[in-house]
Amino acid sequence: MNELLRHIQAIIRDQGPVSLATYMGLTLGHPTLGYYQRQNPFGAGGDFITAPEISQMFGELIGLWSVQRWRDMGSPSRFMLCELGPGRGTLMADALRAARVAPDFLEAAHLHLVETSRALRETQKAVIGRAVTWHDHVADLPPLPAIFIANEFFDALPIRQFQRMPDGWHERMVTNNLDTDQLCFALSPLALRDDRVFPAALRAAQMGAIAELCPAGLAVLESLAAHLVAYGGAGLVIDYGPEKTAPGDSFQAVRGHRFCDPLQNPGAADLTAHVDFQSLAATAQRAGCLTDGPMPQGQFLLQLGLAMLAQRLAQNASPAEQEAIRSAFQRLTGADQMGHLFKALALRHPALATSPGFEARNHD
Ligand code: SAH
Repeated sequence: MNELLRHIQAIIRDQGPVSLATYMGLTLGHPTLGYYQRQNPFGAGGDFITAPEISQMFGELIGLWSVQRWRDMGSPSRFMLCELGPGRGTLMADALRAARVAPDFLEAAHLHLVETSRALRETQKAVIGRAVTWHDHVADLPPLPAIFIANEFFDALPIRQFQRMPDGWHERMVTNNLDTDQLCFALSPLALRDDRVFPAALRAAQMGAIAELCPAGLAVLESLAAHLVAYGGAGLVIDYGPEKTAPGDSFQAVRGHRFCDPLQNPGAADLTAHVDFQSLAATAQRAGCLTDGPMPQGQFLLQLGLAMLAQRLAQNASPAEQEAIRSAFQRLTGADQMGHLFKALALRHPALATSPGFEARNHD
């Protein structure tokens, strides 16, 4: 019996249908039964594989990106290196190893991780092997100049969905099918007549279209941007989603590297949705930050020197290792793999020049 399913069904029985955001938040983040409480959803034996788990090169390049940004910030003697949703801690461990070329950076860096999963905090502690302060929420971060990193964090934040009907937008809710005792989708009978909360591209959507909003993601980004404006620094968001806001249903569940029904067996599969980079960038700009991108991940990594790094790694490697490096390079940059769908978006205090890796795009 799925205890989390029973819990969600009890909430629906007591309070009525719940929004997709409530369902997603409970399924991923419930403090004891949620998906991320499982120690190891990542990697070949888990449900999905992320860029830092594909290759050490990903975290290393982000480490060097951070060192460069820190120098651009005037090498503050004390700053916060903050990762949101660090998963197994692999990216941070690789970044810190690459940053050994800059001992002054390592000395100035105070590590802060935003992570709600107690199980993953344990893994992060072991993998990173350095003093770390954890936070449940970005609102709790200390007032220091900052470098923020978020890889595949925003896609895990709860979204709401709305469908356009002749009388307005109806929210897509999760309810209980009393015949089957299974969860199912149902449209809220009440139409949202005022669609000013939607970006223009969603307001223009066709009849029947689905629009997604991620209020939690916008709130987190607003908080990060306000932090950068107040205390200085830069941020890097890497995730998957289109460059421009567009209607469509991108809610998905993945278990054991396969798509599955997101309402079946809650807590057993990873739930994500596309990240709306255009809205994130607009939110950062409204808070007073400058932004670079979004740029396809492949292009971003190549401009940071991925090809050279791969060549260097391959020099003293065995044929099998060389093949693994070649395959990782392809997965991270290939247009049919992570290279195109994934995007990088950078944030910076207005005193900082264009972020490393984005220079060419800004001169287009
Ligand atoms: N960045 C990692 C892991 C991505 S999975 C990688 O690239 O491999 C998403 C991560 O975000 C997990 O660590 C998960 O526990 C964390 N997370 C999800 N929702 C969160 C929230 N609302 N607040 C803080 N952390 C969250």
